[in-house]
Amino acid sequence: MSSLPRRAGLAVAAVALALGLDMAAPRADAAPETLVRENTRQADAIELALQVRERQQSLSSLNRLADARDRALLGRKAVLAQYGYHGDPDAVVAVLPLASYSVSAGFGLTGPLWEAEHGGQDFGSYVGDQIVAVAAGVVTEVAYSGPYGLRTIVTLPDGTEVWYCHQDDVSVYPGQAVDVADPIGSVGSTGNSTGPHLHLEVRPGGGSPIDPMDWLRATGLTP
Ligand SMILES: [Zn+2]
Repeated sequence: MSSLPRRAGLAVAAVALALGLDMAAPRADAAPETLVRENTRQADAIELALQVRERQQSLSSLNRLADARDRALLGRKAVLAQYGYHGDPDAVVAVLPLASYSVSAGFGLTGPLWEAEHGGQDFGSYVGDQIVAVAAGVVTEVAYSGPYGLRTIVTLPDGTEVWYCHQDDVSVYPGQAVDVADPIGSVGSTGNSTGPHLHLEVRPGGGSPIDPMDWLRATGLTP
């Protein structure tokens, strides 16, 4: 009896593990024909998963290219205007995090959704809508963080942390410098969330959160 099917099975299982596929391993005492059949079926599933992943990756890089082209065509002033800033592009300090949104749960609310007071401002939006950096800084964290879901933290030069929570996708990495209005990710509903929205937190000095709307208004924006 050849040991090839068994070895192939192990390789398939390793790839399945890497792809996060949940596949039942063939029973150790299964007949060789059964193993071969199992392996073929699993190889087909993996091939399909690889194709889907490849397609998603090429779509997202196409989206990024299209976005860069749009921005180049629009010009800096028009891009900033999309995010609520209408002044001199050279003097921009802050922008709104989304081009369009509906203001939902505000700062300081209490209720069953939050463990304590609501520490941020919610901006209702659609899954996949682009989130931009409200101010220039350095990305200090990108991680799944319990109730906050997929969260990116950008630390501003004065030490203020800006938290972008419940994201569907992230396009920046820790250590990366981001300029005001740079795309950083997309809206999602990860973590403790009842629908797609951005939960934005502003934490001066990395301490307790303040009302993000007050902070945005103080820069001259009208969120
Ligand atoms: Zn929230």
